[in-house]
Amino acid sequence: MLVLKFGGTSVGKPERMKKIARLVTETPGQKIVVLSALAGTTNALVSIGEHLLGGHAEAAETEIAALEKHYQAFVQELYQSDGFLAIGQEIVSRFFVFMRLLAAGQFDDKSYRELLAQGELISTELFYQYLQEQKITSRLLPALHFMSIDENEEPELEKISQRLKPLIASLKNIDIVITQGYICRNHRNEIDNLKRGGSDYTASLIGAALKADEIQIWTDIDGMHNNDPRVVDKTIPISELTFDEASELAYFGAKILHPSTIVPAQKYGIPVRLKNTMDEKAPGTLISNKGTAGTCKAVAAKDGITAIKIKSSRMLMAYGFLRRVFEVFEHYRTPIDMISTSEVAVSLTIDNTRHLPEIKQELEKFGSIEVDTNQTIVCIVGHKIEGQQGILERVFGALSQVPIRMVSVGGSANNISLLIPSDYKKQALTALNKQLFGLP
Ligand code: ADP
Ligand code: ASP
Ligand code: MG
Repeated sequence: MLVLKFGGTSVGKPERMKKIARLVTETPGQKIVVLSALAGTTNALVSIGEHLLGGHAEAAETEIAALEKHYQAFVQELYQSDGFLAIGQEIVSRFFVFMRLLAAGQFDDKSYRELLAQGELISTELFYQYLQEQKITSRLLPALHFMSIDENEEPELEKISQRLKPLIASLKNIDIVITQGYICRNHRNEIDNLKRGGSDYTASLIGAALKADEIQIWTDIDGMHNNDPRVVDKTIPISELTFDEASELAYFGAKILHPSTIVPAQKYGIPVRLKNTMDEKAPGTLISNKGTAGTCKAVAAKDGITAIKIKSSRMLMAYGFLRRVFEVFEHYRTPIDMISTSEVAVSLTIDNTRHLPEIKQELEKFGSIEVDTNQTIVCIVGHKIEGQQGILERVFGALSQVPIRMVSVGGSANNISLLIPSDYKKQALTALNKQLFGLP
């Protein structure tokens, strides 16, 4: 059993959807095909939803109309016969009637999440009908029948597995089973999602739930690169990564993978392969238990970080101080990414600032608080990189012109993290590209 996930750009054009149809039919055996929404759709739905939450119905309708036009043009090109074109047009009309019904109602957070789900629901229906037109046997399995998160927004892997196994067993003669990425039900049984980029996570949750042989993430680039291709000029693909390395890169900003993708795959040792839909012959990246120690594999950067410094003379020699600090973050369900301490101060970083005002207020009981926004974590990753001779000297040498706010080494053997002001990100990633990989 394989799980194949195709991202937004991979399904974003009619000819690409046709190519995916070929790729999945050429892959032997039973597979679950996880699809994202067409490129740009979720962004458009976010914007429509925000207009509606803000009471700007007209602006929302303008965007709904533009999106509908896009889909009508899409189906014109996707289907060859008049019969299937009519089916495609009917699907599009039905979805847009429903979106307008949502927009006209009491638009709240629940309707917003329902709106966000429409992108994956429509892409999978259009793809299923395309396979029907091509006389390729497949089934559409609704993700909302099995994918769920608990009250802490954590996927319920056991339950997902218990629901999915009999569903798949009932389709044992069907080689292509299509489902939606990203969407799920929450503990109130409402429609919800696995956060932006969540289709990767869907694929790896399904892979873990079914103990698949491999999880393949098909996207618009030939695997994980050594640096962020959106920021630096020259990057190169990495052929192999360990689960730990890939996990750190995904968590610290390598957008090719949703931050949590590796967790379920690693739990059951299921290899994850990253492949390029536009260049299927390219080897891509294989993520597994195998790894070579002491080499620096890649650099990633995570923006939108806030640094909090708590200065307290009372901290001096006081046990229990850090526990009380951490309890504040725990209470507000705010994860901490980096931490560094001295005798009189502790600095830490967060990326979820939803409860920052309350957190700040509570921390003020311990001492004086400084908050710095617009920070970026730069993360240098490699299996047992810590042990690599001279690595810190090379990193700091490369970053001699960059103000470094925090450093974290030794938290994991596989990563060195630095906090810098976001304005310096390009400079830092470019300097590291040159120093660590000899690339411009
Ligand atoms: P999809 O829509 O298929 O999920 P994404 O846009 O989410 O695709 O992820 C692929 C993009 O991730 C690439 O186009 C690339 O710009 C970006 N990216 C960021 N960092 C990396 C990296 N280290 N290696 C490869 N791609 C990266
Ligand atoms: N469509 C969703 C998004 O754009 C999920 C995904 O593409 O992975 O965030
Ligand atoms: Mg993605």
